[in-house]
Amino acid sequence: MVIFCDINNLNVSLPTASGVVQASRDVSLTIGKGEAHCIAGESGCGKTIVALAIMRLLPKNAITRGKIIFNGTNLFHLSEKEMRDIRGNHIAMVFEQPQSCFNPVYTVGDQLSEAVRIHERCSSSAAREKAITLMTQVNIPDPRKRYDQYPHEYSGGMVQRAMIAMAMALKPALLIADEPTTALDVTTRSHVVSLIKTFVAEFNTALLLITHDLGLAFQLCENISIMYAGRIVESGQIEDIQKMPQHPYTQALMHAFSNDASAPIGGMAPELTKLPTGCPFHPRCKNRMRICHEVEPQVKNGVRCHL
Ligand code: SF4
Repeated sequence: MVIFCDINNLNVSLPTASGVVQASRDVSLTIGKGEAHCIAGESGCGKTIVALAIMRLLPKNAITRGKIIFNGTNLFHLSEKEMRDIRGNHIAMVFEQPQSCFNPVYTVGDQLSEAVRIHERCSSSAAREKAITLMTQVNIPDPRKRYDQYPHEYSGGMVQRAMIAMAMALKPALLIADEPTTALDVTTRSHVVSLIKTFVAEFNTALLLITHDLGLAFQLCENISIMYAGRIVESGQIEDIQKMPQHPYTQALMHAFSNDASAPIGGMAPELTKLPTGCPFHPRCKNRMRICHEVEPQVKNGVRCHL
């Protein structure tokens, strides 16, 4: 596997009214060319922060340590102009709430055409036709009519598909999809899943999926990193983790997934401003030992646990 995105010891701290949020602590993971990797965990565990760090969309000074090497370049050393080129041509992101990604005063079609023109430097009429083709590919009904409509005239599922069309226009080397199906109904969800699958296969695009939904991870990814309280607690191939999860948190997530439980695990995830001493999972862990209250475990064989 050729590694082209290497996140190395990423530490992110965000000052808030209630204290400093340690949103990412020593997060390391690699994504290979064309690989589909998932970061999974409950909401508030810091997984979206990793995506925003890759896109360099965090406030200045939030990254306190670490580096992200993309195609041999440390993204944190690039100027804002160079970073805009990376965002426009090499890395695309699909958000949970795509409505906010479209400018409400321009039609969806015009915004898609603009993305096509920036990427392919073609005439406006060619870009329009290309945008309509993309809208057809993502199954936006009546694309010629929809081209001239504004984002607020689209349903949630349609605007999500338009966002994927926008990403397809860029043919990125890496697609980051942050909870891409959470706001969708079941039918639209399965459609968006198959769109992402087709897209990454067609362009050999690597995928970084950010989700709390293990089912989605199993459908789309080969590798997974499980995140808890700002740290990766277990990582490996999805097949292995499905068969034999090692970390008690992963085990609890897997158990909840297999039993279709609406509440994943007893207890609450800790606030990132007030992490417990020792292992942050110890207040919820059925296997905790005395050492777990006092000493935070290191990673051993891909698992961060004293057991
Ligand atoms: Fe549970 Fe201890 Fe492992 Fe933490 S280190 S997950 S508390 S057994």
